[in-house]
Order: sequence, then C-alpha cells, then structure tokens
Amino acid sequence: MQAAPKRTSLSLVRWFDSWAGTANDNMVTDKDAALAAEEAGLVSIDWGRVVPFLLLHASVLFVFVVGFSWVALITAVALYAVRMFGITAGYHRYFSHNSFKTSRFGQFCLAVLGASAAQRGPLWWAAHHRHHHEHSDQPEDIHSPTQKGFFWSHIGWVLDRTNFRSRIERVKDYARFPELRFLDRFDILVPTLLGVTMFLFGVALEKWAPGLGTNGWQMLVWGFVVSTIALYHGTFTVNSLTHVFGTRRFETKDTSRNSLLIALITLGEGWHNNHHHYPASARQGFYWWEIDISYYVLKLLSVFGLVWDIRPVTERALNARRISA
Ligand SMILES: [Zn+2]
Ligand SMILES: [Zn+2]
Repeated sequence: MQAAPKRTSLSLVRWFDSWAGTANDNMVTDKDAALAAEEAGLVSIDWGRVVPFLLLHASVLFVFVVGFSWVALITAVALYAVRMFGITAGYHRYFSHNSFKTSRFGQFCLAVLGASAAQRGPLWWAAHHRHHHEHSDQPEDIHSPTQKGFFWSHIGWVLDRTNFRSRIERVKDYARFPELRFLDRFDILVPTLLGVTMFLFGVALEKWAPGLGTNGWQMLVWGFVVSTIALYHGTFTVNSLTHVFGTRRFETKDTSRNSLLIALITLGEGWHNNHHHYPASARQGFYWWEIDISYYVLKLLSVFGLVWDIRPVTERALNARRISA
C-alpha cells in the first residue's frame, strides 16, 4: 500500500490549501460520495487533517495560564455574536438558501465574516448544508443523529475524510465568484488573521490601557480560541440537538425540532423544525415570540439598503402540514 504516506502529506498540505489534490481524489467525486465511501468501508477520521482543530480545542486550557479580565471576556462574547451572525445569516441563510439578496461586496463581507468563525469556507459550508436538506435523516445525511448517533452528528462528520472536499457541484451559483473560491480554498487565512489581530489588540491594550488588565496572549486565548470553540459547539448543536430535543410544529420528513434555548445560543437557528419545513424563508422564528436575532439584524440592515428581498414565510407554508396540538 503506497497510498498511506501520500495521503498523510496531503492531509497536512490541506491545512493551508484545502483544495489541494481534490481533482485526483476519486473517493469523493460523485453526488453521494459519503454513502458510497461508507459502503466501501472508507469512512474514517482524517487524523492528520484535523490536528489544528484538535489543538485549538486543547488550547482552551491556556485560560488557566493567561488569566482572566473582563475586557477579554467581553471581547470573546462580542466576537461570538458577530461571527455567529456570519454563520447564520451569511453561510446559512444567504449562501445555503439564497433567502435574501445583497451586493457583491455585501456577499463578500458575509463570506469573510463567516470564514472568521473557522468553520471552513462558504462553498464547503453551503454545499454540505444543501446536502443535509436534501437527505435529512436519510442514510445519505452526513450529520443525522438518528442515522449515525449523536456524537457523529455533532462533531464526527466534520472530522471524516469524505466530508473535507467542498462539494462544488452543489454550489455552482456561488462558485463562479473568484473571491469566494479563494476564501474557500484558503480557509485558514481569515481565522489566522483574526487570531493575529486579537494578539495585537491585547498588546495595544496592555500598552495604552494597562488598567484593563489584559495582554496579547490573554486576548488571543479568550478573544479567539475560547470564542471560536464556543462557536463550533453552538453551531454543531443545530445539527445534533435540534434533531433530538424540542417540539415539532410541522410534519417534515426528518426529525427536526424547535428549541428556544438553541435559538438563543445560535441567534435564531434553534427553530429548526420551522426551517426544515420552509427553508426558503430568511426568517426561522415564524412568530413574534420565536426569538430570531439574525432575522432582526437582517431587517435592520435592510433599512439601510445593505440587504434586500428578504424572503418571508408565506401564509400557505405557515398553514401546511401542521401537527395539531
Ligand atoms: Zn437539520
Ligand atoms: Zn438550512
């Protein structure tokens, strides 16, 4: 077996160039490659590829080394919120579902904001998510807790070698933009820049505002590492928990559920049964009491003309396939 060392080195090259070697990777070219690979016994965690992801998790322990300050915690929370918006409004509601419109520059900003969450590039994210909607809770679903268990739906699928390729054939509408292809291919770039910026921000605060009690390393650990790890698991709960816990309003072909708690953690993504019922809507909380912060921010941006054509929930969708109480 000659393939093993080559495959390992390719995993390492892909830390920096996530598209490296994809044209030759015959494991993952057809539409349902994940299923085909599973049947062929090829599903396995790409340990070489996921080293940065695991190291980032381990780096959370540095909070005990760098100490605490309020300004570091506030920065971590603020960056969580802003980047969660990048994921929910950008990667999910815009790139995956086309549920509102914006300019090419606005689209680029959403892509950069989403990329800063270190959940890979916009094309990778949207393509895998479209696949999820098409096959939700069916054998092909890449992150169904009912098919492969809770752990797999939460995090296992992200580490699997068959899911690393950006399934470009599912996102042809956005793959035609070179700036999006660039961000997707070099998906480590924006998170790295954010990490460096956090460090320099902490260094500057230590110098100009020593009373705040922070420094470069502390800001890097709280502002980037802790915030990014919280973002991962906040986002992953949508794939795992919202197919397990919560209530169902609509009869859907999957096990999706609505949960206020997850809606709060994810700025509105917890209304997952609503969303599977009618994914075209930019709004996932269908009623005023279903808190959906991403939607409120999109409405606010529309007042300034930064986004438009925000797709509403139709009356027909609201009344169709309801599960009577
Ligand atoms: Zn789902
Ligand atoms: Zn969706």
